[in-house]
Order: sequence, then structure tokens, then C-alpha cells
Amino acid sequence: VDAPIHTDALVVGAGPTGLFQAFQLGLLDIRCHLVDSLSAVGGQCVALYPDKPIYDIPAVPVCTGRELTQRLLQQTEPFQPTFHLAQQVSTVAPLGGAANEGGFDVTTSAGTRFVARTIFIAGGVGSFMPRQLSLDGMARFARNQLFYTGDALPCAAGAHVVVMGDDDAALDYALSLADATADRAASVTLMHRRDAFTAAPATVDRMRAACAAGRMRFVAGQVIGFEHTADRLTHLTLSGPDGHATSLPTDLVVVLWGLAPKLGPIADWGLQLARKQVVVDTEKFETSAPRIFAVGDVNTYPGKKKLILCGFHEATLAAYAAAAYVFPDRTVQVQYTTTSTRLHKLLGLATQQ
Ligand SMILES: Cc1cc2nc3c(=O)[nH]c(=O)nc-3n(C[C@H](O)[C@H](O)[C@H](O)COP(=O)(O)OP(=O)(O)OC[C@H]3O[C@@H](n4cnc5c(N)ncnc54)[C@H](O)[C@@H]3O)c2cc1C
Repeated sequence: VDAPIHTDALVVGAGPTGLFQAFQLGLLDIRCHLVDSLSAVGGQCVALYPDKPIYDIPAVPVCTGRELTQRLLQQTEPFQPTFHLAQQVSTVAPLGGAANEGGFDVTTSAGTRFVARTIFIAGGVGSFMPRQLSLDGMARFARNQLFYTGDALPCAAGAHVVVMGDDDAALDYALSLADATADRAASVTLMHRRDAFTAAPATVDRMRAACAAGRMRFVAGQVIGFEHTADRLTHLTLSGPDGHATSLPTDLVVVLWGLAPKLGPIADWGLQLARKQVVVDTEKFETSAPRIFAVGDVNTYPGKKKLILCGFHEATLAAYAAAAYVFPDRTVQVQYTTTSTRLHKLLGLATQQ
């Protein structure tokens, strides 16, 4: 077992709020580590709407989810936060003291351990998990024949592949299989409940053209069962819009039904919750446990609005409150980034007039 990483601050979640939290902590001379269950930073902005424009970030009339994330990352760069991605923070245990003065022992699903003096939960609506196909007995085919991301699919050569979903990710993925020149699948079937899609109209047009050309096909229906040999899935049973059941030869299934948020382990850390959100005060954004703060979409208080701008404000006040714990002997005063030579030094800027 690796030795734990000691840190003044641990940020759980690297969405927009977690990233800005790292920046505000940096301005107060507090270095932090960030953990996110996804393999990329940006939270909902990158996982759910990377190319959609956002119009209500102060002084940024328009930017996409991905651009906002890149700018936030750039802003935190002077403070060199350490990212631990593709791992979920699973346990948080207080190490002692009536007000948690001993800090916390924190573990992740990848086995990383931290001893943290303060914790900032910026977990948004929770960890994103792919929406699952819930059909009794199907789970046994996971990883060999049933997948929730196209990346993990083994070679599709000669296989009957069924792609489920109706968004751009699902249609684009089915098209990439249909248009493959090497390792061609025996058949590519896109399946969705009905003949209507949330994908962009241009993507739907490309899918229909590929069906018309015989490179793939679309079937409307829902899976109601399956056939198998001792250890292999061979057919899916579908119920069509008219209720008629048909059997579809199937070697590989890729379910692309998007991501569903799950508050997950945060619910088990002994914090006061209200409707699956972490209760905080509005002075420090501290939870019912001293030294654990909650910022962004994950928290609740009277008047809460789930907006990026609100997360930024919350992160700022939480950072000041944490500074009082990390530097009990210092008086922490507000300084301006425009004029403070101390902040310029922290930001790695040459001394300015
Ligand atoms: C389609 C859409 C459009 C939107 N448009 C706007 C808009 O125009 N303006 C606006 O202000 N807001 C908008 N929002 C809302 C905005 O995206 C959220 O308010 C914002 O993303 C919240 O940021 P966050 O960092 O608090 O949480 P999130 O973005 O949800 O990030 C939380 C991160 O924490 C991680 N996490 C959770 N639990 C754990 C754990 N236990 N361990 C490790 N990691 C964990 C998650 O994987 C996730 O990456 C929109 C939302 C959607 C869905």
C-alpha cells in the first residue's frame, strides 16, 4: 500500500466549481489535490454539453462548456494542482478532534489515499455513470459482449453489433462501425424506442443515408429478452412499437444511453443532507462536519441556484473559511489581484508597478 498523500486541501470533483476552488485556494497560498471519477476534468460542462454555448458567465458573453473548462484550467495553472482522474472518492473518515482538527483519511476507488486537513466537496450532481440496460441476466455478458462505451469494444470484424441510443454519441458510433473499411462488422443495427432522435438533424440524415445504402439499419423497439448458449449471448428479443416480438442475431451490444448522475459515496460520509444534497451555511459553505465544505451543484441552502456563477462565489468564501483552519495564526485579508504584490508572486507574475 502506497503512503498517503498529505495535503492541506482535497477537492472532490473537478467540474467548473472544483477547478475554480483550486484557483481560490491557490490565491490564499493553499495547494490542493483534485479527484474526479471521470477521466477528463470539466464536470457537466465537458461530460454533458462540451460544444454548447454558455451565455451567463460574467464578462464572458459566450463560450462553450469545453472552452470554459480550458480557461479555468489555465487560470489554476500557477498553483499546479494535482489531478487524480478516473477514480471516485469513496471513503472519508475523520482522524480525530472535536472539530476535526486531526483532518481526514480519504480513499479512492483506485486505492489512492490522502490525509487532508480540509475537504471541498464539489461533486455536482454526483459521479456520472453510464445508464445501464436493466434486463435480468444480461449483466453476465458485461465486458465480453455488453459495453457502455464504444472505446472498450473488441474487434467487431464479422460480428452482429447492436448499438442502443438516440443521441449524437450513439448515432456517430453506429456510423463509425457502418463506415469502417477494416474489421467490418457482419451487421450494424441502431436500436431506439421510436423513430425519433435527440441527435443533431445532420447526424440523423447521415444515419438514414447509411441505412438507405444498406451499410446499417435502424430498428424501433425495446429489448425484452435474450437468447444465449452456455456462455454467449446469441440473440436479443425486441418488442416493436406494435408490440410484436422479433429476434435479432447479436454478438456485441453497445448501450449509449448517456450518463446518469449518482450522488454515490458522498451520501455515506455522515453529512447532513436534504433531498440528496449537502446542507451548508452561506457564510463559509461548510457542511455539518467542520473542515468539510460543499460548493457548487452538490450543496443546498435557502435560495440555492444551480448555476456555474453561484459555484464560483461559494468556492471563494469556502476558501477564505478554510484558510482560517490551515493558517490559524494568520489574519487572512482580502487582497486584490490587480494590486497585491503578494498575489502576483503567488500567481508567478513578474513584479509589476
Ligand atoms: C445541458 C446543460 C446546460 C447547462 N447550461 C448552463 C448555463 O448556461 N449556465 C450555467 O450557469 N449553468 C449551466 N448548467 C449547469 C452547470 O453545468 C452546473 O451548474 C455546473 O456544471 C455545476 O458545476 P459543479 O462543478 O458544481 O458540478 P459538476 O459539473 O456536476 O461536476 C462535478 C464533478 O464531480 C465528480 N464527482 C462527483 N462525485 C465524486 C466522487 N465521489 N469522487 C470523485 N469525483 C466525483 C463528477 O464526476 C463531476 O465531474 C447547465 C447544465 C446542463 C446539464
